[in-house]
Amino acid sequence: MKQIDVMKDILADNNKIADSNRKLLGNKGIFTINLVGSPGAGKTSLLEELIKKFKGEIKIAVIEGDLYTTNDAQRIEQEGIEVIQLNTKGACHLEANMIAEAIADLNLEEVDLLVIENVGNLVCTASFDLGEDIKITLLSVTEGSDKPIKYPIIFQKSAGVVVNKMDLLEHTNFSIKQLYQDLRNLTENIKIFEVSCVKEEGILEFGDYLKERIKTKKLANGFA
Ligand code: MG
Repeated sequence: MKQIDVMKDILADNNKIADSNRKLLGNKGIFTINLVGSPGAGKTSLLEELIKKFKGEIKIAVIEGDLYTTNDAQRIEQEGIEVIQLNTKGACHLEANMIAEAIADLNLEEVDLLVIENVGNLVCTASFDLGEDIKITLLSVTEGSDKPIKYPIIFQKSAGVVVNKMDLLEHTNFSIKQLYQDLRNLTENIKIFEVSCVKEEGILEFGDYLKERIKTKKLANGFA
């Protein structure tokens, strides 16, 4: 009996397009993040805070993934940033071909940092390379500190984790200590940022890390 592994074929096609996205963005010296997190974790809020604090230093563009609405893209647009909305019409993750279309519409000459806000989901988003340099996973303390052991793949594939809503920590049973331990067990060198978007805390540390990564990427691609 002939059996076709559909998922394998889909991922192989996706990865080819992701590689071409990565090449195109690299040639422009653009550093790209695939920002992943559960619905309501604060992905758009983190972006708003990052843009407010760093738009004078870093030229940022955003691709917003969402099932149906343009709510998040409108929020980003208000910060005076170029933003492209991708509506997946119900699909639970973005794919590389969607990003290829979006970057064709962006003015890439004016971008240092491209942030792709993925659809709120910790499962499917882990399987689809979009052509990013790194994945950043956002986790809020109200979700529980067991997320890395329940959804290990996305955390293993992430260069950094942003722990959001730190201002609410005392009202939860979230264990920061357990989180650090579990994350280090999954992936030794993962960066962890403790953030409160509401209190505007921890954003500078996260932004400084990104600035370093942008600089390194530009140098590696021959940009002074
Ligand atoms: Mg959002």
